[in-house]
Amino acid sequence: MGMKLIMLGAPGAGKGTQAEILSRKLGIPTISTGNILRAAIQEGTPTGLEAKSYMDAGKLVPDEVIIGIVAQRLEQEDCQEGFILDGVPRTIAQAEALDAAGVRFDHVLSIEISDQEIEQRMSGRRVCRECGAPYHVKARPPKVPGVCDACGGALIQRPDDKAETVRSRLQVYHEQTEPLKDYDAGKGVLTPVDNQDTIEGTTRVIMEALGL
Ligand code: AMP
Repeated sequence: MGMKLIMLGAPGAGKGTQAEILSRKLGIPTISTGNILRAAIQEGTPTGLEAKSYMDAGKLVPDEVIIGIVAQRLEQEDCQEGFILDGVPRTIAQAEALDAAGVRFDHVLSIEISDQEIEQRMSGRRVCRECGAPYHVKARPPKVPGVCDACGGALIQRPDDKAETVRSRLQVYHEQTEPLKDYDAGKGVLTPVDNQDTIEGTTRVIMEALGL
């Protein structure tokens, strides 16, 4: 089904997890700038080298870099029927660049969750080093501890999931990303959903909000 969606929300709100579920249900790809940047770092590309210091510090990678990555990805064949943006746009400038490129969205899903809950939750988060699939030691354990269900890769804790970095990422979210809510509300596409106790519960409220 051809939908264009944006996942908005604090780091650790579950954007990646819900995007992956929606991607399967709707048959459209997810574009995660975080995953693209982590892959670039692992491959040692110039973009990866530029991005690493920002990411390690919990800061945002410069808008030009992000805008270039997204523009290139959206040109690919699999994006023509619809897509889910996970973790982008994260600034008004990024949203304006998409707008200027003529990209229109059906919904901006904003997952609402408290900072306190984020800080508790992030300590258990793990990610596959190979394919980027998200896990959680309690909420979403892999079948075999430390091993990705999807590709067999090793599960690691992201360096930017350390408690101190999480706090600066939350601050960056409130200062630079949260203003997007007003921006999207102004365009009539903001769809807020409250985080639920379980992944399935949050998927349910998202599907309801999308009218599916
Ligand atoms: P994520 O996996 O979405 O939490 O992203 C991890 C890190 O990558 C962020 O803390 C930023 O440093 C960087 N990043 C990812 N997406 C963006 C974006 N849209 N704008 C700026 N920085 C980004």
